[in-house]
Amino acid sequence: MQALEDELAALHAKEEGIRNLIEEFGKSIENNKQNLIEHDEKIAKYQHQLENIANSREYDSINKELENEGLERQIAEKHIGEAKMAIAEKKEDLEDLARRVEIREEDLAAKREELEAIIGSTAEQEAKLQERRDACAKVIDERTMSAYERIRKSVHNHLAVVPVYNEDSCGGCFNTITPQRLIDIESNKKLVICEHCGRIIVNPKFE
Ligand SMILES: [Zn+2]
Repeated sequence: MQALEDELAALHAKEEGIRNLIEEFGKSIENNKQNLIEHDEKIAKYQHQLENIANSREYDSINKELENEGLERQIAEKHIGEAKMAIAEKKEDLEDLARRVEIREEDLAAKREELEAIIGSTAEQEAKLQERRDACAKVIDERTMSAYERIRKSVHNHLAVVPVYNEDSCGGCFNTITPQRLIDIESNKKLVICEHCGRIIVNPKFE
């Protein structure tokens, strides 16, 4: 889930970056449109001047200005065209990203549902086990219960009762059990505590 969330965050950041780029291209188009207006005004002015020229030198100079303005105008138009194309391309990228985001979000929702189902069934299982534990606790004397709780708290895996492991070892710490203790465990009559880890060792048949 964390990986999916990270991926989604990265996709959203990418979307944000593309939106900023589109905004920049939009500004460039506006600037160039303003340039076009200015060039058109100058062109109109020069054309008007051409109607009232005094000599051929002035004619050449105005024509030169006209030519320059015409070129500048073409460049501004070219930039507008390029920015429009770039925007169209970036919008396609955005659509592509939006589709990817949608798929990831669906994946994430499915994972969330899965997790909630797991948590739900764990809670159910826990309630059942708690019920069984309460039933057992009722028939055990107080001293033994408190010893059990104490052991549970003191051992790292919280298993206070362990079976004999591999016929002669403690199922909690795996140290060897003395033969006398093994007999006691086998008899099911005495509560045998492991001398190494303090856990209650029981006949594996109880498992
Ligand atoms: Zn032990």
